Amino acid sequence: MAKITRKPLLKSRLTVSKRARNSRGPAPDRVKRNKSLKTSAGKPGKSTATKTSVRSFRPWTPAEIYEAFSRFRKANPEPKGELEHLNPYTLLVAVVLSAQATDAGVNKATRALFSVADTPQKMLALGEEKLRDYIRTIGLYRTKAKNVIALSEKLLADFGGEVPRTRAEIESLPGAGRKTANVVLNMAFGERTMAVDTHVFRVGNRTGLARGDTPLEVELGLERVIPPEFMLHAHHWLILHGRYTCLARKPRCEVCLINDLCRWPEKTV
Ligand code: SF4
Repeated sequence: MAKITRKPLLKSRLTVSKRARNSRGPAPDRVKRNKSLKTSAGKPGKSTATKTSVRSFRPWTPAEIYEAFSRFRKANPEPKGELEHLNPYTLLVAVVLSAQATDAGVNKATRALFSVADTPQKMLALGEEKLRDYIRTIGLYRTKAKNVIALSEKLLADFGGEVPRTRAEIESLPGAGRKTANVVLNMAFGERTMAVDTHVFRVGNRTGLARGDTPLEVELGLERVIPPEFMLHAHHWLILHGRYTCLARKPRCEVCLINDLCRWPEKTV
């Protein structure tokens, strides 16, 4: 029988212990000192110091989450999205156009567009070339024009010209992904979905409400912790919070409604 010595056992314990330490990431104080790791905010798909340091902090309690959303509700009982639209179809088109663009930039282009094309039939009658002229101030407008024409054709061919009401059907439309489906389901049909854009992604990770490497992880995390009574408006509260208060570069922690609850180690209050 082979003789068992203590040395390999100690080495293996040491290795495991080192691995365990590394898997937890650097401690918050070390992260703060290491400026090369510091970032303004978590971005989808990137591992950041923000997220790593938040990871070491205690999770929110259900009572704290209830308190945070009660404050959002009190401050803004009926939050509205800022993408201008006239009906579910124009909302769908506006969301497709808004990928990697600002709502303000999209609104500027769609005001004139929707006055002449607010249905799939009218959009097809307008045609791709003229549509491009309306939206040429929006990034990626050529691809987006193609998608809007293609999705209008599909709406007419497969859905009687109406925007469908299921996630799978909306995601089957050209140019429409999970975020588009979540926005349309929430704003047009009143479903309790959580669309994660760059603002919601940042707020979820920074505050520690729902951390994740991808928008989907943050979406599912937020859905898990936010009480159902807040879910209808939670998407807009978090977007508006990220857009006007929890800014990417210089978060306005001093006027933040939830600054006592936020877990971000770098908050300025
Ligand atoms: S305290 Fe600062 S970092 Fe935290 S949510 Fe508020 S604005 Fe964002």
